[in-house]
Amino acid sequence: MNFIIDNFEKIKAIVNNNKINIIAVSKSFQHDHIKPLIDYGHTHFGENKVQEATNKWLNIKNQIPEINLHLIGRLQSNKAKEAIKLFDYIHSLDSLKLASLLAKFEQSLNLKRKYFIQVNIGAEKQKNGIQIEQVDEFYYYCKKTLQLNIVGLMAIPPLGKDISKYFKLLMEFNQSLGLSELSMGMSSDFREALKYETTFVRIGSAIFGNRS
Ligand SMILES: *Cc1c(COP(=O)(O)O)cnc(C)c1O
Repeated sequence: MNFIIDNFEKIKAIVNNNKINIIAVSKSFQHDHIKPLIDYGHTHFGENKVQEATNKWLNIKNQIPEINLHLIGRLQSNKAKEAIKLFDYIHSLDSLKLASLLAKFEQSLNLKRKYFIQVNIGAEKQKNGIQIEQVDEFYYYCKKTLQLNIVGLMAIPPLGKDISKYFKLLMEFNQSLGLSELSMGMSSDFREALKYETTFVRIGSAIFGNRS
């Protein structure tokens, strides 16, 4: 068996829940490298750069419409239009300006996408995301005024040993907003995220190997 399929099956066994989606994060890997998992029938893949993702996935998505592509990296305003043409899910909704632009392009392109609001759960200066105190207001604005389909919250917790505290906080926030999906957990910490009702884990290196 291909080592990627092997890795994927191991993660699936740990997750052990069909309602939890495993996003195979294929950023920085070439098509040849990820092809075994596509051929295996997996349908959720994640990328962090719009241009790289377009080059890699546009043809594949045309051939296999079942594939769901997730943007997990920062989205610059000038890439917003290209991004919503390609991605089914955007996990990095992190500003009013971006949200307004996406709403505008959804209208002009007649598209509806699914969004996660990225929360700066550890209030870190260097990290993107909506500040915790502003999540409520931001969510209602996106949903009511802009009519974006917000499915849940997303966060990357601060490095360190208190990860479960942040996962719990995000879970509680998500519940208080009545949202059904939750994007948290990466290769190093998805086991922890599973304890806090995550529904989308974003796994790169544990499936595809280390990125150079
Ligand atoms: C790269 C990336 C991942 C996957 O990271 P791994 O440690 O390789 O699993 C998950 N989420 C985000 C936002 C990323 O940028």
